[in-house]
Parts: sequence; structure tokens; C-alpha cells
Amino acid sequence: MSTTATVNGGISFWYAQEGTPAPREPLPGDTTADVCIVGGGYTGLWTAYYLKKAVPFLNITVLEAKFCGYGASGRNGGWLYNGIAGRDRHARVHGHEPAARLQQAMNHTVTEVIDVCATEGIDADIHRGGVLEVALTPAQLTRLKEFHARELAFGEKERELLGARETAERIRVFGAVGSSWTPHGARLHPAKLAKGLAAAVEALGVTIHESTPVTEIKPKHAVTPYGTVRAPYVLRCTEGFTASLTGQRRTWLPMNSSMIATDPLPDALWDEIGWTGLETLGDMAHAYMYAQRTADGRIALGGRGVPYRYGSKTDNDGRTQEKTIDALRDILTTLFPQLAGIGIAHAWSGVLGVPRDWCATVTLDRSTGLGWAGGYVGSGVATANLAARTLRDLIQQDSGQGGPTDLTTLPWVDHKVRKWEPEPLRWLGVQAMYAAYRTADRQESTTHTPTTAPLARLADHLNGR
Ligand SMILES: Cc1cc2nc3c(=O)[nH]c(=O)nc-3n(C[C@H](O)[C@H](O)[C@H](O)COP(=O)(O)OP(=O)(O)OC[C@H]3O[C@@H](n4cnc5c(N)ncnc54)[C@H](O)[C@@H]3O)c2cc1C
Repeated sequence: MSTTATVNGGISFWYAQEGTPAPREPLPGDTTADVCIVGGGYTGLWTAYYLKKAVPFLNITVLEAKFCGYGASGRNGGWLYNGIAGRDRHARVHGHEPAARLQQAMNHTVTEVIDVCATEGIDADIHRGGVLEVALTPAQLTRLKEFHARELAFGEKERELLGARETAERIRVFGAVGSSWTPHGARLHPAKLAKGLAAAVEALGVTIHESTPVTEIKPKHAVTPYGTVRAPYVLRCTEGFTASLTGQRRTWLPMNSSMIATDPLPDALWDEIGWTGLETLGDMAHAYMYAQRTADGRIALGGRGVPYRYGSKTDNDGRTQEKTIDALRDILTTLFPQLAGIGIAHAWSGVLGVPRDWCATVTLDRSTGLGWAGGYVGSGVATANLAARTLRDLIQQDSGQGGPTDLTTLPWVDHKVRKWEPEPLRWLGVQAMYAAYRTADRQESTTHTPTTAPLARLADHLNGR
């Protein structure tokens, strides 16, 4: 097996493979628009897409600090799936029925993204193989069964609980004692989706300015070093980068997630591993991992690593820490010991947005025309699409072109949350939380008790999850 030196950073493996897009012109000076969208990730681009489709004469401008897909949208694990951060909290606060509607909307969103990509000719290596979440310890198995029962209660009749043998028939994960599979998921190539979406949006007539950082968002204004865009609606779609905007330092915490991509695996190894269904693969650890089998026969696998940089700093073009690369490689070879000699072609990181209560939200403040969507934690690939369709409906409602819809009445709309603590409390809190989760994972795998380690329960409780 030949091994390669690991490339670290360079935005992501997906861009190393795909090439970064040709740059678009920065904002040339002051201008006006009907809607100004700040941030050219999935949230901003899908919002532009649906608004322009709904009202073709709208003048929409997207302002992107670097290039479209530079953020998490071009770096993620490529799990297009039906998870949404905060559903269980909404069930506790608003009742089961509204939360179940939110879940159904997410189930539908997976199909929606696949369908629109087909309609728009966006080839993002999408394969709908579902999501397989495996348990590797008795405590994980207990959580898996609870998780499985909860998902069934939210209307996922198609979900299957699999034993060790049935799990191995799908993917031979070393030590897997069971799994839960849902069809509401697909594997995709993140950068191909971002690139394709930006091109589709531009083809519809939306203006995109890249290399244009917005320094301040205020009612009817998006301010940049090159000029100001004045618009009745200004939408903040900046997710893990939100803290860098004036006045937003403690809104959403930029949580790191890091990934590695192996060299392509020889056929003989794939024969041993299976994974012919191309499911996205996750586990039930507290510091969980997520993985996919890529279209060109690699494994791309991610996990937490160093969770948070002091002062809400973000990474340097995707570079991650060497110790994180080592930790991800350990996870890979624990799951698949036969990959001990495989080369790691690329390692990278990105930031996701985490609200204080870990609940995603989509909001339009009707008094100011300011809107935002995000705080998806690690589940934004599909959720960004639901958020975009919801922002479209909220704007149409506000501008008198429609009433409340199935989307505008979902419980995550207008959800309010308090800000994160100031530093150093923010940093200390996140470090302590992940230290607790890692210790809990270690305890669970050495003691083999079927119950979740109390330390993890305490961390969940203290963090308001
Ligand atoms: C490593 C990693 C793995 C992940 N894996 C998955 C997964 O498998 N499945 C899943 O569902 N979710 C996953 N996520 C989360 C998911 O990728 C994100 O939730 C989603 O892409 C968010 O899209 P977004 O458009 O809201 O934000 P982003 O993609 O981060 O886009 C925000 C954009 O705004 C721009 N921007 C920021 N500040 C400014 C400014 N001041 N002015 C102008 N532009 C600005 C940025 O350059 C960026 O392009 C992962 C995230 C990471 C980091």
C-alpha cells in the first residue's frame, strides 16, 4: 500500500480535488438591492435561489468575504441528512406535534436537495444510501436504542434497528454491536454542491460579490470596506464566522470540526470492509465521529479534535492541529484495523455555529428587515436548505406577498436564545465539556457498563443540551 504525505489545510480535501472556483468581482462601490445576503455558503446561496425562483424580478446581492463555499459548506463531511439541532428541546417547550412537523420537514428536505440538484444539473456525487449510526460499546448501544426509539416516535417509520451481524452486512466496523439505519440521508461532495449552487444562483440573475467582507450589518445596510449595500432586507448567513461581525461576538460560538481523507483504498480492502450501500457512517460516542465513502473510493472521516479557539478565533484556511490528525487516524484504525498502513492524503478543519442552547434558528425581524439563519451545530447541510425556504416565506409574508406557511409556523422560527458567556468562561466551559466527553467515552469503552457515564450526563446538563 503506498502512502502519501498529508496535506494540512488548503481549505479542504474537497477543494484540493475540485479546485477552488474562479474568483468573482468584489463589490465595486455603494449600491442598492431588494435583498442583501451576507455569506455565500449553503444558507446564503439556497436563500438567494429560492427567493429568485419565487420572485424573478427581485434584485438580490450576495456578499461573500472569501469565495462561495469557503466556510463549512465547502469543508463538511457530506452528510445530507435529516437531523436538526434543537428538535428535542422544541418538543419539550412547544409539545410533540410542532417538533414532529419540524422533523417531517427535515425528512422532506433531504429529497428536496437531491431533486433540485437533479433539476439544476448540479453533480455533487450524491448517493442516497441512508445514514448508519453504529454502537461500539454497551453504553453506546443503550443510547442507540433510546435514540432509535425517539426517532420512531417522531414519525420515522422506515428506520431500522440492526444487530451486530446485520450491521456487518452493511459495513464491517470493528467491534460494532448494533446500529440504527435511516433512509433519510445521502452522501455528497460538499464543494461540488457549493460550486454548483453558486453557478445556478448566478445563472438565475443573482449578483454575487466575492472577496467582500461585511464589517457591520445594521437595519437596511451591509457595510464593507468597498462600499455599502442598502436593502430593505439584509440577511446574515455567516454561521461559524458570525462572531467576527460587529456586535455578534457572543451570538454563536465557532466550534471546530476536523476531517481526514485517506488515499483511495484498494479493492481488496473494500471487499473486507463492505460499505457497498455508501451509507454515511456515524457512532454514538459523546465526542462522535462521522464518515463517508467518497465517490473515488476513500474514507473521509471527521470528529471534534481541539473544539474551540480562545476568543472565538477561526482556523487559518482549514489548517488543523497535528494531534487532531493523529486522533482522527486512531479513530479510523479503531473502526477499521486493516487500515493501519493507509495514507492520509489530506486533513483540514472548519467552524460550525453553536448557539448557547444548541438550537438552530431562522428569524426575520419584521421591525428592522434583518434576518438570519444558522446555529446548526453539526447538522447544516440539509438544514440550510430548510432555513432558506423558510426565509423566502418570511420575506414574502412580510412584504405582503403571502401569509403564514407550513414553514413559517415551525417551532425553530424566531427562536430566541441568550448569548454565550464572555471569555475566559466561554473557553473554559467548552474545554471542560469536551474533556468530560472524552473521559466519558474512555470510561464507557473500558468499563463496558451499559449506562452512559455520569460525567457525560453532567456535561449535557451544564451545557443546556
Ligand atoms: C468539518 C465540518 C464537517 C461538517 N459535516 C457536516 C455534515 O456532514 N453534515 C451536516 O449536515 N453538517 C455538517 N457540518 C456543518 C455544515 O457544513 C454547516 O452547518 C453548513 O455548511 C453551514 O452553511 P452556512 O452557509 O450557514 O455557513 P458557511 O458554509 O460557514 O458559510 C458562511 C459564509 O459566510 C462567509 N462570511 C463569513 N463572515 C462574513 C462576512 N463578515 N462578510 C461576508 N461573508 C462572510 C464565509 O466566508 C462563508 O463562506 C460540518 C461542518 C464542518 C466545519
